[in-house]
Amino acid sequence: MNWLLPDGSPFVGNAAAKALLSSRLDAGSFPHAILIEGPVGSGRRSLARLLAAAALCSEDQRPCGMCSACRKAFGGIHPDITELGGNGEARSFHIDVIRTLQEDAYILPNEASRRVFLLWDVENLTEQAQNALLKILEEPPAHVLFILTCEQRSLLLDTVLSRVFTVSLSGVSTEEALAVLQSRLPEKSPNELSRAVVLWGGIIGQALRGMEDGSYQEIVDILPTITAGITAPTELSLLLATAPLEKRKEAVPAVLSGLQLIFRDALLAKSGSTVFLGTCPAGSRALAQALTRPRLLALLSVIEDLQQARLRNMNHTLFITLLCARLRRAAGR
Ligand SMILES: [Zn+2]
Repeated sequence: MNWLLPDGSPFVGNAAAKALLSSRLDAGSFPHAILIEGPVGSGRRSLARLLAAAALCSEDQRPCGMCSACRKAFGGIHPDITELGGNGEARSFHIDVIRTLQEDAYILPNEASRRVFLLWDVENLTEQAQNALLKILEEPPAHVLFILTCEQRSLLLDTVLSRVFTVSLSGVSTEEALAVLQSRLPEKSPNELSRAVVLWGGIIGQALRGMEDGSYQEIVDILPTITAGITAPTELSLLLATAPLEKRKEAVPAVLSGLQLIFRDALLAKSGSTVFLGTCPAGSRALAQALTRPRLLALLSVIEDLQQARLRNMNHTLFITLLCARLRRAAGR
């Protein structure tokens, strides 16, 4: 399997997922249905499109990127590749789309040896639609490859999961992500880009969006006020500092990573370190002075708990309230 994207750059990181898929493709035993699980911005659609091209390419090193099948696949005009779903709304992927798919899947390919159906964000399939999809996955026509994407496999029915070959994508190493960001945003300083990579946990798509839509700066600006609010005399400062997050649910993961770095810096500062990896050295120093080591460790474990709570799809307003209460309590305030 060839891991070059249509623009010639490599699909970086995620070695385990790539090795799994390569071994199946090279052995000629590509599954009938592949589920790509991972956070938004982790490259799920890029990978799905690469796999679709690989499935239709006739060369040895697939996808070669040069043959007619590859060029059509990369150009989004291959008649044997169909994309469905993906408007982002919960429960927006309806059963009528799956019913049409049921009929289309039996039509023979136009020019390739297979037909590929790319189903984006299948967690948005209604339960009824998932059950209809299950029927096709149980007895798929031999010429069909289904590639599904979702954020977390736990949002799908077990019966559907049992019929798909799942690979998981995650953030990539700082060096790998930084190289991609530098090539895409050469005008930004390497310092800013590496901070963005760390804040978004190596998830390239999110870091790119954060730099482009201004949310990187918003987060860098909000972190010092949240940090100061943790040890402020009353809880009000922290409530005010976190108020902007009420309407910015998508910024929360990066805010949590940012706080984690600030707390780690505070711990290191307590041992005399003057190197700061976070975005708020002054806040880290102030925390190191105000709090004991066990308190700083408690703050770090609050962040870990909150990261878990967020993955369980907790109500957002409740989450912000919990964030404030837990941070204050850990700091003994
Ligand atoms: Zn090709």
